[in-house]
Amino acid sequence: MRKCVKCGKKAQVYLPQYRLSLCAEHYLEWYENRVERTIREFNMIKKEDRVLVAVSGGKDSLSLWQALNKLGYSADGLYINLGIGESSQKSQKACEEFVKRWNRELHVVDLRSEILPIPQLKEIDPRPACSVCGTVKRYYMNKVAREKGYNVLATGHNLDDESAVLFSNTLSWNIEYLRRQYPVLPEGDGFVKKVKPLCKLSEKENALYAFLSGIDFVEEECPFAEGSTSIDYKLYLSALEERMPGTKLRFYSEFLRKMHPILKESEEKPTLQKCKICQEPSSSEICAVCRLKEKVYIQR
Ligand code: AMP
Ligand code: ZN
Ligand code: ZN
Repeated sequence: MRKCVKCGKKAQVYLPQYRLSLCAEHYLEWYENRVERTIREFNMIKKEDRVLVAVSGGKDSLSLWQALNKLGYSADGLYINLGIGESSQKSQKACEEFVKRWNRELHVVDLRSEILPIPQLKEIDPRPACSVCGTVKRYYMNKVAREKGYNVLATGHNLDDESAVLFSNTLSWNIEYLRRQYPVLPEGDGFVKKVKPLCKLSEKENALYAFLSGIDFVEEECPFAEGSTSIDYKLYLSALEERMPGTKLRFYSEFLRKMHPILKESEEKPTLQKCKICQEPSSSEICAVCRLKEKVYIQR
């Protein structure tokens, strides 16, 4: 029987890459410490900041919201209802149930009244559904955070997400994307500061935290994510992780420590302007979401 290294009680969790056995109580403590250390390492959030957590109803973002609350940060939530049938309704419900536990606010944006639900947008925009969805989510996350007076936006991107993106960008040596891959993006030009405090915690570690703290989260993957290449990258990295625990964390952390500073040196600031229609920051005259809205009106 494995014993918790902290208290000697029966261990409920074993973390192979750290060779660490922990009971439930000490696992929750370990996890929250890990979040706090990441926040400090990258100077993500200060105690006086007003944080908006983008929550999807899944294990990562709800765990993040809970950990931030427990660590004493002031963090409200934002759920974007993408209008993907039953699945979006269930996710919204999970966020609404969660917020009842904490004395916090949950903001909701409904895509069905803002533009059109994702399944219909997918018909109008030729790009893969995940790109359309990503564009729309980033737009509303930033807009809502800024308009409601939050100065930090936090997302639940985890180590599996970040190492898979890094793997993909490295395979094609996409220098521009690699340069932008950092768990903190500063505020400026109409953008609020963006942070990913779970970037060093794996999907499994987040699932364990959610499960052991009794968070009721939704498990479903987005139906449109099927067949996306990021799933393959995750599978291959997980196979490596299985044989060599710690691979993902090493790959990602050492990129941030050794490679990112070199890429940063040759950075050229992108020129940004305000969208002529909605005034949100954009790299072109009319932002991606307004262009999408134009297409919707033309088709109607
Ligand atoms: P994904 O892009 O689905 O991998 O999600 C990455 C992160 O984006 C999540 O951890 C959340 O912080 C955020 N997010 C995803 N979907 C939503 C949503 N519908 N509403 C608000 N935030 C979301
Ligand atoms: Zn213990
Ligand atoms: Zn616009």
